[in-house]
Amino acid sequence: SQSPVQFKRAILKLSGEALREPGSTDNISPEIVARIAAEIRDAVKGGLQLGVVVGGGNFWRGASASARGMDRATADYVGMLATVMNALAVQSALEHEGVRCIVQSAIEMQNVAEPFIRRKAERHLEEGFVVIFAAGTGNPFFSTDTTAALRASEMRADVIFKATMVDGVYDSDPKKNPDAKRYETVSFQECLSKQLKVMDATAFSLCMDNHIPIIVFDMAPNGNVTRALNGERIGTVVNG
Ligand code: UDP
Repeated sequence: SQSPVQFKRAILKLSGEALREPGSTDNISPEIVARIAAEIRDAVKGGLQLGVVVGGGNFWRGASASARGMDRATADYVGMLATVMNALAVQSALEHEGVRCIVQSAIEMQNVAEPFIRRKAERHLEEGFVVIFAAGTGNPFFSTDTTAALRASEMRADVIFKATMVDGVYDSDPKKNPDAKRYETVSFQECLSKQLKVMDATAFSLCMDNHIPIIVFDMAPNGNVTRALNGERIGTVVNG
């Protein structure tokens, strides 16, 4: 197998659902969050600078609430606040593992988090803190995938890791087509022409325009978060 790539600075996107125990009514599983934190601890030991963008889908999704009659912008603000709860849970678990970290929120909430200030965030990264980006972009009608693309662009990250429940990008839906083929690497252009879904269109185009590769990987197997962040070739690399 190929030797690992050493990334200097990366953004890890954790979906809200990744923090929930499947089938449980608890939105956040402290055990799962602890496991992810331990994997992040192992991954940053070697000096990787890491920003974490957390989703909120384990609590709330603006688009679903809006489809059921709620004002979209307000529903999106509820979603952004949900990501702050997840961010605090991740922060607490990281600190428990001895990882120095800071939450910066795109919606000011100074009792629980620093406000998002780009230059400060970059300084924290340089000093070896993990920075958790909460409250998305701070704007309705966007997603936390777009937040990951935006923060990665602003922070000049080398790569975005999208931790998911599937082990990469396929040429067709592996649940429907048993012959679906998983890509090791695939270009942004091919994703567009084959309509392969990696991230929403806004997030995807931001990554493409700013030449930020996206690595899609399955976070379920133990150790995969560490392996991915440490540059082992797992999942699919989207680049070009
Ligand atoms: N959200 C938003 N603006 C942002 C990021 C998120 O309005 O910049 C809202 C939106 O309603 C979204 C919710 O927050 O549905 C939770 O984020 P997301 O769906 O991206 O979470 P994930 O699916 O990654 O858990």
